[in-house]
Amino acid sequence: MHQADTADFQRALHDFALASGHIVALEIDATGRILDYNKGFSFAVAAAGEPRGQPLQAFFPPQKGNPSEIVPGLPGGLAVPYRLVSWDGQAFLLFAYPLAEEHALLLGMRLNPDESLAMQRMSGLTTEMGNLLRELRRANRRILDLARTDALTGLPNRRYFFEQLRERVVQSQHLRRPLSVLMIDLDHFKQVNDRFGHAGGDAVLRSIAALLREQARAGDFPGRLGGEELALLLPGTDAEQARRVAERLRADMAGLRPLGDENAVTASIGVATHRSDESEDAFLARADAALYAAKTAGRNRVVVAGDVADPATSN
Ligand code: GH3
Ligand code: MG
Ligand code: MG
Repeated sequence: MHQADTADFQRALHDFALASGHIVALEIDATGRILDYNKGFSFAVAAAGEPRGQPLQAFFPPQKGNPSEIVPGLPGGLAVPYRLVSWDGQAFLLFAYPLAEEHALLLGMRLNPDESLAMQRMSGLTTEMGNLLRELRRANRRILDLARTDALTGLPNRRYFFEQLRERVVQSQHLRRPLSVLMIDLDHFKQVNDRFGHAGGDAVLRSIAALLREQARAGDFPGRLGGEELALLLPGTDAEQARRVAERLRADMAGLRPLGDENAVTASIGVATHRSDESEDAFLARADAALYAAKTAGRNRVVVAGDVADPATSN
C-alpha cells in the first residue's frame, strides 16, 4: 500500500473510527481528557453519563492497574499499544496514535479472555515504551525551551522573538488588527558597567527584564534582542495605546532603581505600528529610527514612529 500520511487521510481514518460501532475509538487531549468518542466506546464502556470532558481514568481507573498517562507515538511506524481495563474488568487493546496539538487517537477493541492474558504479559513492555516516549517528549520540550530562551534574563531570545514577529505580522494582517512594537534600549549602559562592574550590569538587565515580563499582558510578546536591547510586541494595540504602554514602562523602569536610590537606570523607547504589507525589517527599522530619535532628544523618553521621519530603507 502506498503511504498516505496526509492530513486528509488521517482525518478520514479518524472519522471512520469515530463512526464505527465495533471499533472502540476515543480522542483525548494532552492531559488525558476525553474530547470525543464513538459508539463502540459508549456501548462497551460508558453506559451512562457524558464522557466528553472527563478524564480517561474515570473509565479506566488506576485501581485496575491502568497507566496514569497515555503517550501516543509511532515508534518504528507502529502506534503504541495500551491494555486498559474498565471498572467492570473488561480488557481493551487500544493503540495510541498521535494527533495534532499532542492529542491522541485511541483506537482498538475489546479483548477476549485468552487475548487478555497474552496482552497482560505485553503490557509491561508498553508501559516501558510509554515511559521512554514521555521522557523523550519532555527532553524535546526542554531543548526547545533552551533554544528559545536568553540565559541571562529568561526572556525569549532574538531568534524566538523574530519567529513570533513573523507569525504575528501575518496574524494581524489576516485579522485586520493593529500590531505595535516597542524597541527598548537602556541609557548609558556602558557607564553602568563601568561603575558597577559587569555583574552589576547583569543584575540591572535581569531586573529590567523581570519588569518587562510582569507588565506584558497575555498576548504580548517580550524579548531580548541582544545586549541591553529589549523589545515588546503588542498585538491588537494601535499607536496611541502603544505610546501609553511605552510611557508607563519607561516611567516604571526609571523608578525601579536596581542600583540603589541614587542611581536611576533609564531606558529610551521607540514605538512603531505595523503598516499593511510592510516587511518585518521595515517595521522594526521604523521602531529603531524612533528609538534613535529618543536617544538624540535626551534619552529616558518615548518616541513614536510617525512623529519622526521614516528611515530610508530599500523595502
Ligand atoms: P546609549 O544610551 O546611547 O544606549 O548608551 P549605551 O552605553 O547604553 O550604549 P552602547 O550600545 O554603546 O553600549 C551598550 C553597552 O551594553 C555595552 C556593553 O558592554 C553592555 N552590554 C551589552 N550586553 C551586556 C550584558 O549582557 N551584560 C552587561 N553587563 N553589559 C552588557
Ligand atoms: Mg544598545
Ligand atoms: Mg544603550
